[in-house]
Amino acid sequence: MPDLIVQRPEGLYCPPGDFYIDPWRRVERAVITHAHADHARTGHGHYLATAVSEGLLRARLGAGINLQGLAYGETVEHHGVRISLHPAGHVLGSAQVRVEHRGRVWVASGDYRTTPAGARPDRTCAPFEAVRCHVFITESTFGLPIYRWRPDAELFGQINRWWADNAATGRASVLSCYSLGKAQRILAGVDASLGPIICHGAAEPLNEAYRAAGVPLPATLSVNEVSDPAVLRRALVLCPGAAMGSSWTKRFGDYADAFASGWMQVRGWRRRGGLDRGFVLSDHADWPGLLGAIGATGAERIIATHGSVPVLVRYLQEQGLQAEGFDTEYGDEHEAQAEAPPPTEADAA
Ligand SMILES: [Zn+2]
Ligand SMILES: [Zn+2]
Repeated sequence: MPDLIVQRPEGLYCPPGDFYIDPWRRVERAVITHAHADHARTGHGHYLATAVSEGLLRARLGAGINLQGLAYGETVEHHGVRISLHPAGHVLGSAQVRVEHRGRVWVASGDYRTTPAGARPDRTCAPFEAVRCHVFITESTFGLPIYRWRPDAELFGQINRWWADNAATGRASVLSCYSLGKAQRILAGVDASLGPIICHGAAEPLNEAYRAAGVPLPATLSVNEVSDPAVLRRALVLCPGAAMGSSWTKRFGDYADAFASGWMQVRGWRRRGGLDRGFVLSDHADWPGLLGAIGATGAERIIATHGSVPVLVRYLQEQGLQAEGFDTEYGDEHEAQAEAPPPTEADAA
């Protein structure tokens, strides 16, 4: 039986359906798992994605893209291939792509985050749903056993305490985070009664897309709306890593800084970052999450696309599964953006 999804120079390709999934070169037909830049690129002839991600995709790729939106679980058929999109729990509208042809089912995950048992669900996107399949194409961004996330409640408790302590000493709390997904999870997770929240201009259009899609986020201010320095000193400030230490953050005076990323679990990297604090906040599955998701698909064959591919592949092979890697051009820029590079496996040892 020929493979339903193969590697091509343009990206992951479905030969019988004649379409690509998250291609990195321009193609005629692209199915897009989510709006992060390494998965959703400009220039494709036709886009198929979740309807709920439409606002984000148009904000990032242009209002005029030729986009067909699907509800989660809705099916379309293309050249005899049934295509449907299922929640990935990663960012607003993120989806796994299920393709079915002549009784064979493949699922390409894009990026995903699982909800640990007993944890409260993420309020900013639909939770990950395992989809039964024969072959599962999985990401592996945090595919090392050291990566184990703490519950969200504990993490946001840490961020709230840091913010409250800084405000009590008259310092703004500048938290660097990726503008799409991470910023909105922080907004939805923190205690907004602690003080004003200022968002960098890179995140605000994305906040608006979340609000328009029905995700309740606390009120955010643009820095130009604040003239009272006392307000700045009590504020939680969200900005991309590139703004850290720039003239944009200088206006906050003697501020406390921190970075939110899954990479913060690695101590050596935290030291190199040079920031006051690191919060281990990721929108990807941790090691137990990856293994749980892979097991729940029931797939006999696993293909890992990006991240710690060799480690995950070796582990799955040891469990008796057929496992291999695909070379892709997906990155982890939404996790790794800061001055310091992400850790290598040597750091993690
Ligand atoms: Zn992503
Ligand atoms: Zn990615």
